[in-house]
Amino acid sequence: MTQTKRTKNRISKKAASFTESVIREMTREAMKYGAVNLGQGFPDFPAPADIKQKAMEAIADEYNQYAITWGVKSFRDAIVEKTKWFLGLDVDAETEITVTCGSTEGMIAGMMATVDAGEEVIVFEPFYENYAPDAILSDAIPRHVPLRRTSDGWNFEKDELRNAFSERTKAIILCNPNNPTGKVFSRQEMEFIADLCKEFDALAFTDEIYEHIIYDERQKAKGKKQNELSEDKLTTDNRQPTTAHICMAQLDGMRERTIVVNSLSKTYSVTGWRVGYCIAPPDITSAIRKVHDFLTVGAAHPLQIAGTYALSLPESYYIDLQKEYQAKRDFIVPILQNAGFKCDLPDGAYYVMTDVSDFGFKTDVEFTKFLIREIGVAVVPGSSFYHDKSLGKNQVRFCFCKKDETLEAAAERLQKIKSKI
Ligand code: GLN
Repeated sequence: MTQTKRTKNRISKKAASFTESVIREMTREAMKYGAVNLGQGFPDFPAPADIKQKAMEAIADEYNQYAITWGVKSFRDAIVEKTKWFLGLDVDAETEITVTCGSTEGMIAGMMATVDAGEEVIVFEPFYENYAPDAILSDAIPRHVPLRRTSDGWNFEKDELRNAFSERTKAIILCNPNNPTGKVFSRQEMEFIADLCKEFDALAFTDEIYEHIIYDERQKAKGKKQNELSEDKLTTDNRQPTTAHICMAQLDGMRERTIVVNSLSKTYSVTGWRVGYCIAPPDITSAIRKVHDFLTVGAAHPLQIAGTYALSLPESYYIDLQKEYQAKRDFIVPILQNAGFKCDLPDGAYYVMTDVSDFGFKTDVEFTKFLIREIGVAVVPGSSFYHDKSLGKNQVRFCFCKKDETLEAAAERLQKIKSKI
């Protein structure tokens, strides 16, 4: 066989310009070294039995062929109902919802549907690592605005955010409650962001997958009542908001410029199902549907049927979920603090971003290797949440969406850190 001379790059510049997911790599490392996995954010406890039962029934009932590209009608109707009681928003199932393969596809499909090459997208940093490849794949230029850890949680400087906006800004990406910092944006912060979006005619992509995971004392501290937002929200459905979550699309003038990205993964503990959805105005939805159709055709049909059931669960489901995660947070954070990690209680989501400078390692990656191999606990190195890796070199992220015994095993191992350094 003669060999042809190779003169062309076989890998596109886009694909070459980002690495594999560090978060998912840490799961492989944890398995290799038998470490307790507090890295990748997925539950290690069973998904709810009734939701699983509905998925099994849907397969038995022959929901096994393609669903409508933009999502099963009953599932979109359930999304409409849930969005009404939880956020007070009226959404049209026919023109404003696209069911996607997880929020991961929702975000990238949304960006590919709206962003032209060279347009800028503002991203708070540290950011969930997917947003960087999302920007590259959709030809957007990311503009990073720092969130800094202060005595009052993770905050941004208003001037820095304002200066990031310009005529070139196409959109801002918000993850609220935030991965990896646990920040929950206040109403004032959201209004400030919304005003900039309106002033510069920018869109807002809002990743809402942790909307049900917001902790108590934040609501108390901010003087919010549990049902503050609920008054005019009730439909035939008598469920009421279970957290003080604020969605960008609720703010004045933002509904028409917001793409809400959400999923079943975190709320119903089914991260492997890959069922998510985008809510966006009709013109944007029809563009998202086209991109989605040619990327994936559609999300798993039987799992959407089970999703119809999941989204109809009573509010007690969400209250229990929040309580369980709050107990896990309240267990693990003091353990981390006592072990020498500098961190505060997160306000939402199920991550703790910690400062590890006191341990004296050169980089977060070196420290993570030590934790996995010598201590037996896997985390995610902070640098994977920053565009400039040096900014994260003193941080690692823990997740606590794990069984109590997993957290207890991690706690026991973490007590040995100081004696091993
Ligand atoms: N969102 C989760 C995390 O940040 C899972 C990421 C993933 O692997 N898709 O850990």
